Amino acid sequence: MFITLGFMLLPKNGDVKPDLLILAVRPSVIHNWAGKSKMRKILLGMSTAELKLLAVELGEKEFRGKQVADWLYRQGCNKMSQMANLPVAFKTKLEEGYEAGRSLVKKTSKSKDGTFKLLLQPAYGELVETVGMPYEGRFSCCVSTQVGCPIGCAFCATGAGGFKRNLSAGEIVDQVLSVGEVAIKEKLLDGEGRVSHVVFMGMGEPLLNYDATLAAVHLLNTELKIGMRNVTLSTIGYVPGIYRLAGEDLQCTLAVSLHAADDALRRKLVPGMTRFTLQEITDACKHYFRETSRRVTFEYCLLKGVNDGKADSARLADLLKGQNCHVNLIPFNTVAESGFYPPEAIRIVDFRRVLEEAGVMVTQREQRGAGIQAACGQLRRQALST
Ligand code: SAH
Ligand code: SF4
Repeated sequence: MFITLGFMLLPKNGDVKPDLLILAVRPSVIHNWAGKSKMRKILLGMSTAELKLLAVELGEKEFRGKQVADWLYRQGCNKMSQMANLPVAFKTKLEEGYEAGRSLVKKTSKSKDGTFKLLLQPAYGELVETVGMPYEGRFSCCVSTQVGCPIGCAFCATGAGGFKRNLSAGEIVDQVLSVGEVAIKEKLLDGEGRVSHVVFMGMGEPLLNYDATLAAVHLLNTELKIGMRNVTLSTIGYVPGIYRLAGEDLQCTLAVSLHAADDALRRKLVPGMTRFTLQEITDACKHYFRETSRRVTFEYCLLKGVNDGKADSARLADLLKGQNCHVNLIPFNTVAESGFYPPEAIRIVDFRRVLEEAGVMVTQREQRGAGIQAACGQLRRQALST
């Protein structure tokens, strides 16, 4: 008997083509490999329903699965031995084949505005970066969905570092739990407080890690009780992913990064996603709105002398006018040696005015955490030795 493994091939530059390299291997090969590396299955990432099934599979009553979920998602527990209300026999069985799967906080960097960045060491694999942001009346966590990113946007630190791997749903949820715990320790949240908003705007392209991203969105909602409307998913404009997401019956906000209103400029700025034209991207967003009644946000990173001119704003206004949407202008956060610079303040004002005069709604993203390289686009895959 053979088991088939699929690998997605992601070229560093050029289009992302989800080509599959199929390998067939004997189950014994997988077994030996798993045995040698002593990898145990991870509980984090399983829903209460799945944990209930697991409890039954291991010979326990269903409600034991709910207790495990409470320890994992509500008590921040990382060890079976600390799950005090579980019978010893069940804990032992769990310990044999599973681990909770929480990461270790390797490093915390704090900025004056309260924003902090965590460098997390997951149970297995490369380090993950995530950001916590306190605001008046809410607390946001910016999560990564991949280590690195295959798209390679010209102005983004994550893109410059290349792609390493996809994160699992558990690793995405772990970031939110870790940020909440650090926020309480740092007194940025009181003991009762919790992360109220999650933005998928850290490292990586969420829609190229679709299943884990979707599972994480559901877990945030059902296990961590974060309202769907408080979840924002940002994509570079992977059209098939937008159509798929539109069919999921979610109420999360979709943000689509445009950065240019003409295809030639976009191809230069976003070299890893040239398969889709701006027209195809905006058509997909109209479909998303029709299906979900959720207004799409278009993100536009303003780069001095590159995409911040009068003609650029006029083209963007033409592209979007009449569409039920909203534009979020993000002045470029400096990335050393990228060759790009932030726009002059007057250019932002003019750019905004042209859009507003065309009836397009505009907001400007507040810069948070730049001093600790935690602002939009500044997260970068860290070396394991960090
Ligand atoms: N891959 C997804 C989500 C992560 S990037 C996406 O691209 O949408 C989150 C946001 O940060 C995107 O809008 C991206 O364009 C923006 N960004 C990247 N680098 C930036 C930089 N140096 N300054 C400001 N915004 C940046
Ligand atoms: Fe990837 Fe988004 Fe950065 Fe582009 S902006 S390289 S899509 S993380």
